[in-house]
Amino acid sequence: SEDAAYLVSLIRSVPGFPKEGIIFRDFMPVLADPRGLDILLRALEAALPVPANSFDAVAGLESRGFLFGPSLAHHLGKGFIAIRKAGKLPPETIGESYDLEYGTASVEIETSAVKPGERVLIVDDLIATGGTAKAGADLIEKAGGAIAGFSFVMGLEGLDGLDKLGDVPTSTLISMP
Ligand code: IMP
Repeated sequence: SEDAAYLVSLIRSVPGFPKEGIIFRDFMPVLADPRGLDILLRALEAALPVPANSFDAVAGLESRGFLFGPSLAHHLGKGFIAIRKAGKLPPETIGESYDLEYGTASVEIETSAVKPGERVLIVDDLIATGGTAKAGADLIEKAGGAIAGFSFVMGLEGLDGLDKLGDVPTSTLISMP
């Protein structure tokens, strides 16, 4: 559709960032554009991987999942949970480590961030290998929640990132080469 084409036209591709051979996909221009932001938020809602009544909260992955997660949550009448990079939160926190190409990283939430049995939709701007989203999901489960689904704005083709997420329903708005 015209809206989908407009959305895609706003995504900025930056070759060589953060290192040679990588094309960084930047959705900030979507957020900066009033029509783009409106299309994005409506499209995320229209493409939810599960009906809105089958989850209780939206959780966003730092940092870019924080930029649209709360807006989506608010529009759906849900609360928002921030899944942070390690070392940013005061105690008590629960953490989950995951492997990067070189080394490891961890994500954290406050111990009381998830209510027992709460069903959570996880959101982020982009899924590549799926390692970040998987760690976020494991963390929510460790905290006593259940994963209802994942919503991504962009997905990188050829990395099989979604395979890491198991049988949970997912939605990806834009597939990027
Ligand atoms: P993954 O863990 O390999 O799936 O990488 C996804 C995480 O890295 C997400 O939190 C993304 O925000 C970030 N990321 C990786 N590549 C890009 C990119 O090209 N654009 C924006 N974010 C990216």
